[in-house]
Amino acid sequence: MLKLPNTSISIFTVMSKMANEYHAINLSQGFPNFPIDVRMTDIVTRLAKTDIHQYAPMAGYPPLLEKIAQLTLEHYQRKVNPSTEILITAGATEAIFATIQAFVQPQDEVIILDPSYDCYEMPIILSNAKPIRIALKDDYSPDFDLIKKHLSSKTRMLILNNPHNPSGKIWTEHDFIQLEKIIENFPNLLILSDEVYEFITFENKHISINTREKLKERSLIVSSFGKTLHLTGWKIGYLIAPEHLLKEVKKVHQYLVFSVNSLAQASINEYLTIFDVHEVAQLYLHKRNFFQNLLKETAFDLLPCEGTYFQTASYQNISDEKDLDFTKRLVTEFGVATIPLSVFYKDKTDLKRIRFCFAKEDELLMQAAERLIKIK
Ligand code: PMP
Ligand code: GLN
Repeated sequence: MLKLPNTSISIFTVMSKMANEYHAINLSQGFPNFPIDVRMTDIVTRLAKTDIHQYAPMAGYPPLLEKIAQLTLEHYQRKVNPSTEILITAGATEAIFATIQAFVQPQDEVIILDPSYDCYEMPIILSNAKPIRIALKDDYSPDFDLIKKHLSSKTRMLILNNPHNPSGKIWTEHDFIQLEKIIENFPNLLILSDEVYEFITFENKHISINTREKLKERSLIVSSFGKTLHLTGWKIGYLIAPEHLLKEVKKVHQYLVFSVNSLAQASINEYLTIFDVHEVAQLYLHKRNFFQNLLKETAFDLLPCEGTYFQTASYQNISDEKDLDFTKRLVTEFGVATIPLSVFYKDKTDLKRIRFCFAKEDELLMQAAERLIKIK
């Protein structure tokens, strides 16, 4: 019997492949298309000539652990112990997988808020546990009445993603206060907070669980240098959690990958001494505004984007097609690849909403808009 009969190839792979086949502009899978900072190229070239090439320590390259502790203190005024409360992982994906494997047991329930990123469900199923998929409200804010109804002694974990892929929505202070209230009587419940876009927010500031006194003791917070430093292919992420929780995740990490790429960790460590992570929000604020202005000329209705490098839009004025069919036609007839939003839900197929990635050179965004304007 198969363990994962319903797990298929991810939409990001499917759409990027289609974009290549049809020589389309790829605004589907989330990755920047601009070159990395030459200062980083110099660092990597120089460090590649040193003896950095053997296994890094299991939990991470110590100077990088120190840097992450420093960042966490500067940004969130949270003091974490670099040797016991931080784990460097093979991207956020490994952090999420290892966390779920470490804590979720057969028959446990894990709450996922839909639309949700695609890597949460598989490790839950692999643990013989039950994913409970609860829809966010129409404006993508959490529906606490609905979440509350699903909480029970079986709920082992709640996964939240803030800033949110695909909608760009960010959680408010009020959201956190409500969450704190409804989980008060469930001491066994852990929070897995996916904050990979923590440094990409615009008008409103990101509120991290790192700043929530009532939550941080039961939370595992995930981030990714892939997003912050435009290095998605390096797959370097990290987890921040209290020692007693992280200790368990390390047991999985140790036998899943043992440790992650030493040259990449050392390079990121050095780069963080010259790069201010605030720059990334400035860059994407420009790109969001630029792309939104371009799309005003099209028949798409734009939804708000408070953070991340994704813009969602409705095409209900354009077509009645299901979103997957519509996005396929966008590639084949108009040469622009995007992501249908229904894939972020368990069983929705008729949303009439799609996601664009605007982490692209302005020139490419302009070319994409010229094509999108033709769609009536
Ligand atoms: N979580 C979210 C919300 C993401 O968008 C992504 C990447 N697209 C990840 C996790 C995975 O990050 P990484 O590439 O560092 O594994
Ligand atoms: N997180 C990226 C996105 O949302 C995709 C990464 C992947 O393909 N696994 O587009």
